[in-house]
Amino acid sequence: MIYSSFRSILAVACILTSVSVSANTTSAEVNVYSARKEALIKPLLNRFTKETGIKVNLVTGKADALLKRLQTEGRNSPADVLITTDAGRLHRAKQANVLQPVQSATLQQIIPASYRDPDGYWYGLSVRARPVFYTKDRVNATDLSTYEQLADKQFKGQICIRSSNNIYNQSLVASMIKANGIEKTELWAKQLVENMAHPPRGGDRDQIRAAASGECTIAIANTYYFGAMVSGKKQKDRTAASKMALFWPNQNDRGTHVNISGAAITKHASHQANALLLIEFLANKPSQKWYAETNYEYPVRNDVEASALLKSWGEFKSDALNLSILGQYNAEAVKLMDRAGWK
Ligand code: FE
Repeated sequence: MIYSSFRSILAVACILTSVSVSANTTSAEVNVYSARKEALIKPLLNRFTKETGIKVNLVTGKADALLKRLQTEGRNSPADVLITTDAGRLHRAKQANVLQPVQSATLQQIIPASYRDPDGYWYGLSVRARPVFYTKDRVNATDLSTYEQLADKQFKGQICIRSSNNIYNQSLVASMIKANGIEKTELWAKQLVENMAHPPRGGDRDQIRAAASGECTIAIANTYYFGAMVSGKKQKDRTAASKMALFWPNQNDRGTHVNISGAAITKHASHQANALLLIEFLANKPSQKWYAETNYEYPVRNDVEASALLKSWGEFKSDALNLSILGQYNAEAVKLMDRAGWK
């Protein structure tokens, strides 16, 4: 008796499971793989659900691991949307054949052409710059000019920059290859290595901290790290940041190197329409404002203002190259940095 009732419970459970599975495939939902931390994206996804009724299932992880996962899962991947940072990485995902092109008149109108893939494989959602940070008491801004200049002998032992296996530096070097060619950029990289205060270690924040503590006078870092330090919880970081100032290099030529965080629809997305709705939602005005401010980044669209903190760093000219070029030159950049002895 007990056995048979257990069996009927089991049968009901099975029916329920199959119902919920089949309901899932047609239900209003979208599956997101995000390399951005949950706190930096979840509130926006919740707002999307509230407005559209579309449930968002969020998986967060490291950027390279998520790409690998998409490749391994292939057509069985539940992912519809990939959110990650750096155009170099998004290009890598495109090359790895895990994305699909999307044509959206809305996105094409809102997002400047340089911040999206020309074939529609990915779209930028926020902008970050990679300028020069200098110690206020030891460097005059008037003595600074370009990335190229950082290879000069006057900066011997003064430069703090992270390792060459970091995508941000690979993208910076890719932009320099585009501007100056391989030969000149390789010489530059060699001289930059000679000017480093010590072999690269740590992340972007560590470069700013090292300069503030006197290990070097110049640090290269992404703007949002500085923003996070300036307004962060750690007193130590706020103190370090207060010793540093931001300089926008290459204002008289191509402009300061910038990059994006962005989103793409995966090749085997089963909720394509919802995926596109989500990306368009992330690009709308209120989302752009929230997303950029929460991440200390610049909105990707020109008609949304940057936060007061970012505005306080001044306006600057950014390198206008299409960011897909950073991906195209990535392999060349990696090899070049290796030849230059950039650890
Ligand atoms: Fe970062």
